[in-house]
Amino acid sequence: MSDRPLVIAVDGPAASGKGTIAKGLAQHFGLPHLDTGKLYRAAALALLRHDGDPESEFSAVRAAQDIAGLLDDPELKSEMVGGIASRISAYPAVRAALLERQREFAAQPSGAVLDGRDIGTVIAPDATAKLFVTASSEERARRRHAELSASGLPVHLADVLIDIRARDERDSHRSAAPLVQAGDALLLDTTSLDPAAALAEAIRLVESRLRS
Ligand code: C5P
Repeated sequence: MSDRPLVIAVDGPAASGKGTIAKGLAQHFGLPHLDTGKLYRAAALALLRHDGDPESEFSAVRAAQDIAGLLDDPELKSEMVGGIASRISAYPAVRAALLERQREFAAQPSGAVLDGRDIGTVIAPDATAKLFVTASSEERARRRHAELSASGLPVHLADVLIDIRARDERDSHRSAAPLVQAGDALLLDTTSLDPAAALAEAIRLVESRLRS
């Protein structure tokens, strides 16, 4: 085992369980955690609040430079903000504007856990352990639908599934930092796992990496 700080990269598509897993890993290993999706969502929210145009890379970059104060906004969780985040995250200049704070977070002497789409490939390519968390699109839609229903938002499961698939398509096929499993990432399919079982498996995978 090396004495380098422990850095864990958790990537995967929307509603795969990666956020819950990343939080649980951070708690288990006593590390700070960054949900990088929040940065893209905050940029999307800044854009919305300034009536900016998601079709304009220039407008989107300005929004990405103006996210202070929005990182805990309850509106970050909305489907509307998530959809715009997914569109503007395809702009290389938006990704560049958010890169440094993610790299700095990953380089803390304490180590860190980060979750997103490009952590293992772009943000922390030297991470100690990389997980690629996935689940079938139907199961991910079911989870997102349950979450939205619980928060009182009436949506149809079929619409959530269409949205999840559209987002997968955009995230996986954009040219800038697409969602792909890093060559050295360990795959964790959570389709038939509950959150506790998924976290236990994630801890087991990270520990196996630490021993190797
Ligand atoms: O993970 P979350 O759904 O909050 O992310 C919102 C959007 O931000 C994603 O659909 C994705 O397009 C983008 N994102 C990204 N790279 C990251 C994290 C999120 O492109 N590291």
